[in-house]
Amino acid sequence: MSDNLPDLFAHNRHWASQMERDRPGFFTGLVKQQTPKYMWIGCSDSRVPANQITGLEPGEVFVHRNVANIVVHSDLNALSAIQFAVERLKVQHIMVVGHYGCSGVQAAMEGARIGIADNWIRHIQDVRDRHRVLLETVAPESRADALCELNVTEQVVNVAVSTVMVDAWSRGQNVSIHGWAFGVHDGLLQDLGLTADNSKPLDSLYKAAVQRIRYKWSGNGNGMHHNSEVVKEA
Ligand SMILES: [Zn+2]
Repeated sequence: MSDNLPDLFAHNRHWASQMERDRPGFFTGLVKQQTPKYMWIGCSDSRVPANQITGLEPGEVFVHRNVANIVVHSDLNALSAIQFAVERLKVQHIMVVGHYGCSGVQAAMEGARIGIADNWIRHIQDVRDRHRVLLETVAPESRADALCELNVTEQVVNVAVSTVMVDAWSRGQNVSIHGWAFGVHDGLLQDLGLTADNSKPLDSLYKAAVQRIRYKWSGNGNGMHHNSEVVKEA
């Protein structure tokens, strides 16, 4: 079972020598500083590697990942990472990135029992329950994708109301938080259009984001529904 591990070291040595050959001094430059402009909060899913998707190099993106990209108010791990990124590294953009086909979201949707992770996934079930009326208007096969986007929306808000961000914005620090979704099926990132930068009330940004999701997914599930009636419900 472990016979592939030496391959990883071989790949690593190849990568390091290739980098050094292409960009002499690359690693010694990295030793001196880490000045990423971006923080990525994404899912642990092996199909969603932050650097590769965005073409960013070592030193360019500060990454925090967990199952289903959740930011819980009392999660010291996530909060510490966000504080380090904002206060120490002075990142300018934090992106919360969900992905379609997320097993965490799927498990939450189905109420599947896994074990201790159920308690973590319970946070997505809270999102599901909060948006139950909206989700019921979405075709069953698209519900998990809609919930993925709703989850991103909720987590952007959770980052925005964290003490770290409240303090950063009250100092006048320039940091914006973005909600994105990644398609494992096509390799493409989508901007969900939710960007919190303290210039507009968070509540109206949140409502607009939820409305866009409703508009995109509600009705016949083809993502092109134009029924103003379903858009009204808060
Ligand atoms: Zn996932």
